[in-house]
Amino acid sequence: MAEIRLENLRKAFGEFVAVRDSTLTIADGEFFVMLGPSGCGKTTTLRMIAGLELPTAGRILLGGEDVTFLRASQRDIAFVFQLFALYPHMNVRRNIGFPLSCQGVPRAEVRARVEETARLLRIDHLLDRPVSGLAGGDRQRVALGRAIVRRPKAFLMDEPLGTLDAEFRELMYHELRQLHNRTGATTVYVTHDQLEAMAMADRIAVMNHGVIEQYGTPQEIYDRPSSMYVADFIGSPPMNFLTFRSSLARGSREVRINGAAIAVPAVHEDLADADLVLGVRPEHIRLDDASPLRGRVIDSDYMGTTQIVTVATEHGEVKARIAADRRAEAGETVGLAFSTRRLSLFVAASGRAIR
Ligand code: ATP
Repeated sequence: MAEIRLENLRKAFGEFVAVRDSTLTIADGEFFVMLGPSGCGKTTTLRMIAGLELPTAGRILLGGEDVTFLRASQRDIAFVFQLFALYPHMNVRRNIGFPLSCQGVPRAEVRARVEETARLLRIDHLLDRPVSGLAGGDRQRVALGRAIVRRPKAFLMDEPLGTLDAEFRELMYHELRQLHNRTGATTVYVTHDQLEAMAMADRIAVMNHGVIEQYGTPQEIYDRPSSMYVADFIGSPPMNFLTFRSSLARGSREVRINGAAIAVPAVHEDLADADLVLGVRPEHIRLDDASPLRGRVIDSDYMGTTQIVTVATEHGEVKARIAADRRAEAGETVGLAFSTRRLSLFVAASGRAIR
């Protein structure tokens, strides 16, 4: 079992708190992504799991065992910093086998495990080639091979695709995901790229200033963000926010904006005369002449099968993703209708979601 559990994990550098009382459980075999902007504490969290940084407070459990004070080398976790760091003077076979040779594993076993690993990564035909002549993707696979040949309990990956161009990144993250499906090893993957996170993760933790704002499956995070911060971070273009003032009673199933009644998921609290924010994703908006919620088209970006239409409303600018064949001329007045099951509501002052 390689479940990873963080309990009230905290890291301060002097006065500055980089990770603030994080508690979460990463299930055995899960591909778990830590997502957030630069400086939010992702790397620090990963380094504490690896044993490269000592927590200021809290505990880390690996497969139920408290490893908080164990050295990195005693944790049986592979930290993949950067997939390109290979030994250029060695061939593929020796690069992959190097960690085992260092541990004094017998040669025959090193050979067998290197070959098994190479088959898993589909690079067994390259084993005797020098790494210096390999294409980028194959070099990445060799570096991955060196991490997985040890059969660690878990993998930690810190933006391993960070230096690659967009097209190649996409190829590699599909590959990493498939590799995970084949090995089933618990993986914690750090990125600031929400598309990468959504495509790869079983579950995502979204971090903000050292705090885990929300964690859940990509779909939960996308459909039911717990705060405006999370809603804004996920999705491209991001969720639209329409601010309005209203009172809501517990059990309400609609809000009224400019006389338009908009059905929302049932609200479980009373809110008297508060500034509220309706969150709606661009793909959940239709142009509908009958809707009383109206605005003026400012711009439209053609994207092939869809277009992003920007509409100025009394409650702010709204971006709608609609079919490309609907003409939307700048200056035209349009009505906006929302897919009611997919809306979010937030308290403007705190940014938290109203459930
Ligand atoms: P990035 O993607 O830029 O690495 P991150 O989310 O991984 O961002 P961390 O590297 O964990 O963020 O850093 C979180 C905060 O802690 C940053 O403000 C960083 O400056 C600070 N920090 C990290 N390591 C140290 C250190 N050794 N001493 C002081 N401050 C540190």
